[in-house]
Amino acid sequence: MDKLSNPQVTIETIKKYDFAFQKKFGQNFLIDEHVLNKIIRAAGVTKEDMVLEIGPGFGTMTQYLAESARQVVAIEIDKALIPVLNETLSDYDNVTVINDDILKVDIKKLVDERNGGRPVKVVANLPYYITTPIIMGLLEGHVPVDNITVMVQKEVAQRMQAGPGTKDYGALSLAVQYYAKPYIAANVPPNCFIPRPNVGSAVIRLDLFDKPPVEVIDEKLMFQIIRASFNQRRKTLQNSVVNGGVPVTKDQVVAALNEMGLSETIRGEALTLAEFAKLSDCLSA
Ligand code: SAM
Repeated sequence: MDKLSNPQVTIETIKKYDFAFQKKFGQNFLIDEHVLNKIIRAAGVTKEDMVLEIGPGFGTMTQYLAESARQVVAIEIDKALIPVLNETLSDYDNVTVINDDILKVDIKKLVDERNGGRPVKVVANLPYYITTPIIMGLLEGHVPVDNITVMVQKEVAQRMQAGPGTKDYGALSLAVQYYAKPYIAANVPPNCFIPRPNVGSAVIRLDLFDKPPVEVIDEKLMFQIIRASFNQRRKTLQNSVVNGGVPVTKDQVVAALNEMGLSETIRGEALTLAEFAKLSDCLSA
């Protein structure tokens, strides 16, 4: 049987199973061989690897992953896709499909049980409605992960990769860059999917750090400051931090900015991750 990356095979599979795409599950299936090869290459999957795939759909990318990895574990929420996957993946004996919601799975336990706690690679064409909770869950949950290579909405990829002073820079950029080094590997147009999404997409790879690139005394406080700064990004940092419910006074923020040699009227969008860490340390002292 030809691979599902051949659009004709995907169309025949839709007909055979009378499959109805579920918008609520963010179902846009890949039908472009070139893009699939690019994702596998970007992820750097080898025969040593266990790959965790989130949302295999019809198993289009799973087929490529099964050929490159030692083992693939794919987690799919939609029950209707399980019989399809049983057929499309029947040629591969190194794939396990689990019918579950990725946000409810204990991924750390799964990696312990199936890969002896060694780091896995996460590869996925993500359901866009839960991109951020999935990625932040993997990063903040301290799951043993080598790298995460995922298709996401183009704007989200740009936000993850953005640096200070750019319009895309925000809380997501800083949260991601505290745990990983992002790299956009490809931009992918809507015509590479069935059905076509109404947004552009991009493949982003996140290489996880062994330890964060900055040291901070109180991680929780730093992220509270970051979130408050970008909730009101047009306001000065001192106003948005105090209005945003961070338990500090305006005088304390001003004193910290002075100590750091930063302007009292600076906005959060101008600060680097290292500066947010320093500000947080000054305020927690
Ligand atoms: N990997 C397939 C491909 O590239 O053709 C499908 C990708 S599609 C964008 C996203 C997939 O994630 C769908 O199969 C959808 O049913 C599944 N999905 C959505 N929400 C999920 C969740 N919470 N847990 C696991 N899978 C989910």
